[in-house]
Amino acid sequence: MENDVVTTREHTSPRVDRCGCKSALRTRRKGGRQRLRLHCADGTLTSDAGTGRGATHRHRRHLTASWCDTNKLMRSIESGRLGLPRTIRACLFDLDGVLTRTARVHATAWKEMFDAFLRDRAAQTEEPFVPFDPVADYGEYIDGKLRYDGVRSFLTSRGIELPEGAATDPPDATTVHGLGNQKNELVLSLIRTRGVDAYDGSVRYVRAAGDAGLGRAVVSASANTRDVLEAAGIADLFEVRIDGIVAAEQHLRGKPAPDTFLAAAKALEVDASEAAVFEDALAGVAAGQAGGFGFVVGVDRVGHAEALREHGADVVVQDLAELLE
Ligand SMILES: [Mg+2]
Repeated sequence: MENDVVTTREHTSPRVDRCGCKSALRTRRKGGRQRLRLHCADGTLTSDAGTGRGATHRHRRHLTASWCDTNKLMRSIESGRLGLPRTIRACLFDLDGVLTRTARVHATAWKEMFDAFLRDRAAQTEEPFVPFDPVADYGEYIDGKLRYDGVRSFLTSRGIELPEGAATDPPDATTVHGLGNQKNELVLSLIRTRGVDAYDGSVRYVRAAGDAGLGRAVVSASANTRDVLEAAGIADLFEVRIDGIVAAEQHLRGKPAPDTFLAAAKALEVDASEAAVFEDALAGVAAGQAGGFGFVVGVDRVGHAEALREHGADVVVQDLAELLE
């Protein structure tokens, strides 16, 4: 029987391994239709190519619960281009943590600002000082969001309500805007003193995407996006930039709403289904899923791969260069 099976392609990407599938073989019986065979950690599944029919209940649940949806896997296998489905015509990249190593700079600035605020507040209320957690609090309440949304989100998590204030508030004002402005001053100071590094793997990937004729956009909540891109020396790699300034001008909601990514796809003249989102933030991959984008790549820099998948990533990598292999 095996002699009747023609193996047309083998796929053993780390993308497959992550959900327990060890490899995938696309096979075709002589004169018959194509089938997809997944070698999973808990057994072997064979299903009709492109339909997923033939999966046992256990395996179907396994596939549905992870990125490894049969149809998406088939598209990925068939494309072979930059690890993306064949239908993708544009790439939408988050900035901090995906292209540049500024996520840590931002987390540091948020911690410095919030800890000073929380320490003062603890002294006034005589309650214990609980510092800002630059991993857990940053990932859950801050990362990927517009600055003032981040302030509001974290304060709410601590049961703290402050006056909104205005964007023109000085950095020492005890308002949502004042705290946000203080954080921004700290970030600019850190960028000036430490500079900005781009991830080598990301730069190679963005160049490869350009060589492949894909549109490229930067989509970031940061109002400092242009400065950061120029400091990292990669500003000329992108046709479109949707940043915190554009978001404010066009009244675009911040992530996890998909507005800024949708604006980037529109500017590149592609449908959301033809665009891939690259994000390291939970709110960012959630925006990718909410917007109906063709593919969502989660970039795991801090060891939260499972959370990225749960929030909507189709695939999770630690470095974009993995998609070039
Ligand atoms: Mg980010």
